Amino acid sequence: MIIRGQNPGFFLNLNLMDCRYHRITVKVGSNVLTRPDGMLDLARMAQLTDQIARLKQSGVEIILVSSGAVAAGRSELQPARKLDPVSSRQLWSAIGQVKLINRYSDLFRESGITCAQVLTTKENFRDRRHYLNMKNCLTTLLENDVVPIINENDTISVTELMFTDNDELSGLIASMMNSEALIILSNIDGIYTDHPDVPGAEVIREISPKTKDLSRYIKATKSEFGRGGMITKTGIARKIALHGIHVHIANGKKEDILVNLLDASENAVNTHFIPDMHQSSSVKKWLAHSESFTKGQIFVNSGASMALSSDKATSLLMIGVTSINGDFHEGDIVKIFDEEGNHIGMGKAQYDSKKAILLIGSHARKPLVHYDYLYLF
Ligand code: GLU
Repeated sequence: MIIRGQNPGFFLNLNLMDCRYHRITVKVGSNVLTRPDGMLDLARMAQLTDQIARLKQSGVEIILVSSGAVAAGRSELQPARKLDPVSSRQLWSAIGQVKLINRYSDLFRESGITCAQVLTTKENFRDRRHYLNMKNCLTTLLENDVVPIINENDTISVTELMFTDNDELSGLIASMMNSEALIILSNIDGIYTDHPDVPGAEVIREISPKTKDLSRYIKATKSEFGRGGMITKTGIARKIALHGIHVHIANGKKEDILVNLLDASENAVNTHFIPDMHQSSSVKKWLAHSESFTKGQIFVNSGASMALSSDKATSLLMIGVTSINGDFHEGDIVKIFDEEGNHIGMGKAQYDSKKAILLIGSHARKPLVHYDYLYLF
């Protein structure tokens, strides 16, 4: 079939495939994009952009979360004097992001695709307005057939304001954009039953939402150039799957991995986290990722925790609150604990902490946390 690309005069010859998903977020790690000497692996990037082009032609919307800025910057320039880790990350990411996005832009252009750079920080996921602005921007890019390429703005996000790694960022993006699947491309085939070098170790092909403990499989090995290891990947994958999104961890260095993963007729090696089909609302998805931004702690009595955990949609009323710690404003996100001190959820406070403390145990009509803004584990 002959398809006309976006650029006038550009034609592609391809077989349209029957794709499993129609909107995906793809996370590519630094280890996929760099060679052993730390330079950007242009051949790999070309294979990746080519696969994305083929999927796009088959009607798949793709959001790319790409690491590689720090690695690209590091291979470009060594600082004149020894820098602290924060400064060197700022220096390298600022230099490397330009290189990275230029390479992507050139490669995508060859396939007639326009790409765009979106840099973000964890702070932007905290504030609902920023969150919605970002969502709007990505939606507009997709509507205009552009491939957004997202990375953390490493130049300004420092220590506690940083994402754990781009795996975390890609999870947030996948749920924000209601992707059907998140595909995490690393340099191994998936999660193994043992260390991949141990004879007999196999890739776990499917992980159901009911699988309780994966810790015996996962080794605390970090990737050489990126920040994320298998433990964070698995943690993010589970969380995202619980929000109704398929997650695949696969080897981005394998030829055609992305296309094969999406091709309904293929059986590409990967670890597939099966989603929990009970999807939560987008507000609740946002809340689910807000743990590091919470401002206060709310303790509730057993009646309230039972009511909250029942099947009925229940808001957290002041009558069920037994104590409150921390300072927060109306609209801040608070953590909720039961009588035994177990962390049971998070929600957006409808009072500031001063007012809420005065209303503890009262019959105030307005709930402290409305059901629509309540996320329970
Ligand atoms: N944002 C970093 C970069 O582009 C990568 C963070 C990570 O490795 O997850 O280099």
